[in-house]
Amino acid sequence: MEHIPQVDALMQQAALAYPIYRKVSGKQKAAFLRLIATGIENLGETLIETAHLETHLPHDRLRSERQRTLFQLEIFAQLLEEGSWVEARLDMPQPERLPIPKPDVRKMLMGIGPVVVFGASNFPFAYSTAGGDTASALAAGCPVVVKGHPAHAQTSAMVAQAISQAVQEAGLPQGVFGHIEGHSFAIGQALVCHPETKAVGFTGSLVGGKALFDLANQRPQPIPVFAEMGSINPVVLLPARLEAQAEALALQYAQSITSGVGQFCTNPGLLIGIKSEALDRFLAALGQHIAQTAPATMLHAGIYQNFEGKKTVVTAQEGVTIAAESGIAKTGIIQAQATIATVDADTFLANPTLHQEVFGPFSLLVQCANSQQLVTVVAHLEGQLTATIIANETELLEYEDVVEKLRNICGRLVFNGVPTGVEVGFAMQHGGPFPASTDARFGAVGPDAIKRFVRPVAYQNFPEQWLPDELKKENPLQIWRIVEGVFTK
Ligand code: NAP
Repeated sequence: MEHIPQVDALMQQAALAYPIYRKVSGKQKAAFLRLIATGIENLGETLIETAHLETHLPHDRLRSERQRTLFQLEIFAQLLEEGSWVEARLDMPQPERLPIPKPDVRKMLMGIGPVVVFGASNFPFAYSTAGGDTASALAAGCPVVVKGHPAHAQTSAMVAQAISQAVQEAGLPQGVFGHIEGHSFAIGQALVCHPETKAVGFTGSLVGGKALFDLANQRPQPIPVFAEMGSINPVVLLPARLEAQAEALALQYAQSITSGVGQFCTNPGLLIGIKSEALDRFLAALGQHIAQTAPATMLHAGIYQNFEGKKTVVTAQEGVTIAAESGIAKTGIIQAQATIATVDADTFLANPTLHQEVFGPFSLLVQCANSQQLVTVVAHLEGQLTATIIANETELLEYEDVVEKLRNICGRLVFNGVPTGVEVGFAMQHGGPFPASTDARFGAVGPDAIKRFVRPVAYQNFPEQWLPDELKKENPLQIWRIVEGVFTK
């Protein structure tokens, strides 16, 4: 492993900051998160323009993504102020219990230590420098070191500056936040392997996420890597609903497939239906919308080349037909042309290449001979962030097996909608069985994302004054806890 002095210095600083930052109260941490939000807001249109020039994402999209980022910081601030997220449990002692006395045991969640975050290329704000991973780790009480994504290095540096300013204003140790740039796998590898790193948050490719996950597991002291990677987000179109709504669904799906130039991890990359006149109507209408979709500029040359390369590989497979492609001429080099391909279920089942993510405005329609084959196709799918079922309510019962199989492979099951658009909230799950993510028990969106960067610690027979406030008998913070098995304040 290459020794990178800057990585070492950042991780050492983070390690020094950890014991101090860990003990900062929830209210102070909340104020710190709000200072970060204010700092980002104060960067104003300069930040939006910088991000636009680096990522080619439209200004309005960037403004709403920044808003989402500020909202994420605010929900973690509120979570910290309320305080019950630590899941405090108190089992009171019974010194007279026979045959052995029962000890006093009190447990709560605590920040795991310095966390390394890899910024995502497709979300320059919401899943990058001050995004969900950083906000949840800081909320958990963990110092954070961000590896900025080279696709938006300047944007990342500006946001990092705002966070460092907030660290200073909040009177926190400098090592609470660190930032490193550079287009080099060696930096990422050194960060993951550094002995002071205690967990990793990642959003990106399956190849990248899996490589870093494997590296973390080979360390003398393995650490968790929460990698959110590829997903083809299957959509099952059941016959009765399709018969009634073919044209409306085609429009809805054309918009979902091409939204953000298809550069969303929840992009519907796989459509599955049973051969019928309604499926033909759906495909024809979808094709018309796709043909009228103007080519759009992707995030960076690497993503564009990946899109073109993977699309070419998939559409060149035997039995795959291109059903529709954007009919409008390109005006730029790294512009993607939206494409729909189609294949029969036997070919799909026999060829794993067709199960891979083509990151961009692309979707593959699998046409099944009958409902039994539909069940077989669904049974062969890998782990996914989302799965969608388009159906009438009566079909949910008729196709119970399909619903159950989809539930087993995904983190979020959508009924009569599209998978794109991830609401940030307590009930959201954004993460699914491998290869969608490396740990399906957790998610990267919403307040529960904090659970990735904590570990439970139990104190046994400790004197009251030595316990954290969350575990004191009198409950000075007035948080929800489980005391003697009863949920109480
Ligand atoms: P990526 O190639 O996985 O890179 C993400 C970050 O991880 C970058 O900072 C990269 O380092 C680092 N990295 C990747 N592999 C590494 C390794 N083996 N060792 C150390 N560091 C490593 O993702 P990307 O640049 O965002 O996009 C590439 C492809 O990822 C896309 O075409 C798409 O297929 C996929 N993608 C998927 C999602 C999703 O949510 N499903 C989101 C974004 C991208 P460098 O900075 O040095 O390159």
